[in-house]
Amino acid sequence: DRLRRGFSRTSERLNENLTGLVGPGIELDERTLGELEEALIATDLGPAAAARIAARVGEGRYSKTLDEAGLRAIVADEIAKILRPVAKPLEITAFPRPHVVLVVGVNGSGKTTTIAKLAHLFTEQDYSVMLAAGDTFRAAAIAQLQTWGDRAGVPVVSGKEGADAAGLVFDAHQRARAEGVDVLIVDTAGRLQNKQGLMDELAKVKRVLGKLDAAAPHDVVLVLDATVGQNAFSQIEAFRETAGVTGLVMTKLDGTARGGVLVAAAERYGLPIHAVGVGETMTDLRPFDADELARAIAG
Ligand code: GDP
Repeated sequence: DRLRRGFSRTSERLNENLTGLVGPGIELDERTLGELEEALIATDLGPAAAARIAARVGEGRYSKTLDEAGLRAIVADEIAKILRPVAKPLEITAFPRPHVVLVVGVNGSGKTTTIAKLAHLFTEQDYSVMLAAGDTFRAAAIAQLQTWGDRAGVPVVSGKEGADAAGLVFDAHQRARAEGVDVLIVDTAGRLQNKQGLMDELAKVKRVLGKLDAAAPHDVVLVLDATVGQNAFSQIEAFRETAGVTGLVMTKLDGTARGGVLVAAAERYGLPIHAVGVGETMTDLRPFDADELARAIAG
């Protein structure tokens, strides 16, 4: 299926790295276990997961029955243990409505596309959705969100390039409340180069939302591009600090060999992971299913 295909490059990379490390006639001595651990680290799974997998292989070393399929089963099992606690779909719970989802992330991470995917997902679940084009810094971002809104069949509240983002979000929230909209998804600027400016803007947007509804934003979702590998960690740290991230969506897991970074991020930060992006269209968002993902990664 789509998810397995999406993860095929990650699982291929993993299997390339693991080939020949276990099997008949191979002694699982300390050196081999060390090589196994290094091979796992090289697949972006993170050192902690790699160490645990190697330790489990080491425990079973006298049974001498471990082949590559057996190793993959151990890998899948350990990955699933890490992913299960963070698997958490976005839920629309706010009362009064709207439930506000603030979406943050660096430019190019797939933020706009993910907003469209979420709009589609919530519409399918029979919620009414409105988008707010809060990245007022880039005219292209406003136009792009409008295009996606049209495709998803949901209204987009937008202003002129350079308009005050917090003011726009204020207007959008008032409109959403007046119209009884269930979910308001707010796009934000992603200029991490201007960290102070971004921090101030996000803080202001959050302040304005908080004035309209003390519980808003109900979710602050960080969109991460899996292809950046370990650089995802510095983005998580930056946005956790500036925006108070409450959960993650990882994109571009199709066509990257670095899908293991999802596991490393889960292990390291314990933040909920809501969904994963596996393509460029509106329907290419997969709910985060720990066991299914673990199997897709382990191949
Ligand atoms: P933004 O600048 O963060 O808003 O990023 P965009 O949503 O414009 O996405 C940047 C590029 O990444 C576009 O070409 C998207 O089609 C592409 N993209 C976004 N999500 C995915 C995904 O899950 N898979 C793939 N293959 N491409 C994606």
